Amino acid sequence: MYNLIFMGPPGAGKGTQSQLISEKFSIPQISTGDILRANVRDKTELGQEAKGYMDSGALVPDELVVSMVAGRLTEADCSKGCILDGFPRNVSQAGALEDTLAELNKSIDIVVGIEVEDAEVVRRLSGRRVCRECGATYHTSFNKPSNADTCDKCSGELYQRDDDKEETIEARLKVYRDETLPLVEYYKGKKLFKGVAGVGSVDDITGAIVSAIEECCDNT
Ligand code: ADP
Ligand code: ADP
Ligand code: ZN
Repeated sequence: MYNLIFMGPPGAGKGTQSQLISEKFSIPQISTGDILRANVRDKTELGQEAKGYMDSGALVPDELVVSMVAGRLTEADCSKGCILDGFPRNVSQAGALEDTLAELNKSIDIVVGIEVEDAEVVRRLSGRRVCRECGATYHTSFNKPSNADTCDKCSGELYQRDDDKEETIEARLKVYRDETLPLVEYYKGKKLFKGVAGVGSVDDITGAIVSAIEECCDNT
């Protein structure tokens, strides 16, 4: 069983990599961003509360996100582990996650920090395109779909996220530095953190993440 956390600035490749690792280890990817966007799209109560924060690049309040993740972790497909993509994003969420996992007799095996510099983040986010149907992620130059507007996996429509505009990207980077980066020290203190360079080919980065997981997690 692997319970993994993928951390990193917006655009580091958390979604891209967690999708691949999810397939490789047959464990679900739990992306708080994807779940929140689905709630915004469906105009649920949660979506309506979250939208303003997301549009400005701020974090959605902890209590909303924590209960959303806690509910998701009790679902049957998490019995063999999961990848948390984009959660926790501050120390308070990390504490809440530990409590939830403890109640389920689970714990974190490894926190993978995907490391990418700000200038590269801006390049990646400004060219990011996402599938409306399956959430697959593309890039207009680095990871082109065969047809500009359609998903290679499911033929869904590709779109640009509202928060991937340049002015919001800066705000998100600041939120990352101020609120999420302290988690690196937090998880280093617990000997759970493993940094992986997030530049280079997607496949090479996946390989480095798989090695980190296999080295760290003794599941025998
Ligand atoms: P990225 O991977 O580009 O950083 P995400 O899709 O993970 O973006 O998140 C998009 C937005 O959803 C965030 O800017 C934030 O408003 C909200 N969000 C996602 N995860 C969390 C979380 N764990 N806590 C609070 N807000 C979150
Ligand atoms: P995150 O979930 O961390 O916000 P994504 O996985 O959505 O990041 O990736 C952000 C953008 O960068 C996407 O357009 C994606 O196609 C692209 N991307 C991901 N990995 C790489 C890479 N190794 N090199 C270049 N571009 C990448
Ligand atoms: Zn798709």
